[in-house]
Amino acid sequence: MFVSDISKLSIKVCECTKCPLHKSCNRTVFGSGNIYSNIVFIGEGPGKEEDELGIPFVGRSGKLLTKMVESIGLSRDRIYVMNVVKCRPPENRNPSQEEIDSCHQWFVEQLNIANPNYIVLLGKVACDKFTGKSFSMKQYRSKNPKTIEFSDGRKVTLIFTYHPAYLLRNPGMKTEAWKDMKILRDVLEERYE
Ligand code: SF4
Repeated sequence: MFVSDISKLSIKVCECTKCPLHKSCNRTVFGSGNIYSNIVFIGEGPGKEEDELGIPFVGRSGKLLTKMVESIGLSRDRIYVMNVVKCRPPENRNPSQEEIDSCHQWFVEQLNIANPNYIVLLGKVACDKFTGKSFSMKQYRSKNPKTIEFSDGRKVTLIFTYHPAYLLRNPGMKTEAWKDMKILRDVLEERYE
């Protein structure tokens, strides 16, 4: 059921013209990985390589994300990866609030189908989008791991960390991101107190 639901949604997203980004992008970049996974990583939007291939996190950032994931014994085919917006913002700028709002429906529907127990938020755009707040990454990361409960009783554990593109520009921060990955590993192994 997941696969047919997610396929139908990806077709709707392909046809979306709700914001101007559809005019400048090559193709929509929906999501990749294992939709049955209970772990979802969320970035901000597609970059150049992603825009060319239609797959999220396949460029240099994607390779670094793969290393981050593998550093705690996971693999890309054991997680699901998606972005806040599905079309590439020109020149890799951050998506505007209007663009994020336009893509909100797809974001929510995609996340509802995935229905994960663990969400890793990559960078401030994804952290702000998911929480509806605006903190610094330092403030977000101080909350790791953060468990939230929805009105229907569903619980999701959040891990806040840096976007791989930021880490490529600021390699000195990789140690901090690796600390976040270790928290995720401990949560998954139920070793976190
Ligand atoms: Fe539609 Fe989202 Fe692409 Fe904007 S970014 S055109 S809302 S799919």
